[in-house]
Amino acid sequence: MSYEGKMLDVLEMPARDEVEQALLKALFRHDGVIVEFGAGAQIVEEIAEEFGLNQTQRAAALETIYRKENRIKKSLLWHRLLFRAAASLAEKGLISRPSATQKITGKREWMLTESGFDQSLRLLEIPLKQKNLLPTKSFEVQKLAKQITEASRPKIYSPFDDSKANTKTLRESTIRARGFRQAVLQAYDCGCAFCGMKISTPHTSIWEAEAAHIVPHSSMGRDDIWNGLSLCHIHHWAFDVGWLSLQDDFTIQVSPKIRSLPPLFGKMQGSDCIRSYSAGNVRMKLPSNKNLHPHQAALLWHREHVFFNQV
Ligand SMILES: [Zn+2]
Repeated sequence: MSYEGKMLDVLEMPARDEVEQALLKALFRHDGVIVEFGAGAQIVEEIAEEFGLNQTQRAAALETIYRKENRIKKSLLWHRLLFRAAASLAEKGLISRPSATQKITGKREWMLTESGFDQSLRLLEIPLKQKNLLPTKSFEVQKLAKQITEASRPKIYSPFDDSKANTKTLRESTIRARGFRQAVLQAYDCGCAFCGMKISTPHTSIWEAEAAHIVPHSSMGRDDIWNGLSLCHIHHWAFDVGWLSLQDDFTIQVSPKIRSLPPLFGKMQGSDCIRSYSAGNVRMKLPSNKNLHPHQAALLWHREHVFFNQV
């Protein structure tokens, strides 16, 4: 048995597969990312706490002798164990290595992959169907969200995705849906572009706001930022059914049909979810980066095909 193996044995450290599972769960708790295990990192203590490690176990150090340099390097056994567990998860394709993640986020972090995310959901017994809404980052989704956010805005834009005719696997469409949602919510700071409503679930930080398509999927709408809007549930519904639309200058437009409805319709206590925008002088809340604004080609399509412009 190796020197390291003996120490793990003598000190009764947790088994590596247990540490791997604990890491996957910790990654889920931390929205899919944890920083490298440097000395004193919070995550190192957090997982040690979970295993109930005592001071001796936490402080045990391995000594490596570098004869050529005539020095001894000490490294904490617990850090080594965490690192080996993470490396093993990376080997299995369940997490990305800090060197790979850095290319996407600019930070040296371990990040869940889509398979690792699925695995963590199974371990925590969270239904897979919640996956699309969870804010958890994964390597593939972050990569796509970065592409969506950093793509250069086309002068002539078609909001239709003809390539959709090609069937996509469930895995691909999940990544697309999550990447679109993440890029849109991030651009709009997770609030509604119409009313500003911003709130998340108390436990898992699922944002109430939804990533809406201006040209919907059913009409071959693209999953890119120029065809997206972040809207609360009510305004998403009102936009999709044609109560609301947007002018080219981003002012909110209300269907004239609203005038024929009983006054109580559309009211929520003191506020009026639809009529508040009737004056035609309320501009939607836009991302600060102009490159991320909705495209006029998508807005025109919505006014012509969805908006109910009759009394
Ligand atoms: Zn709203």
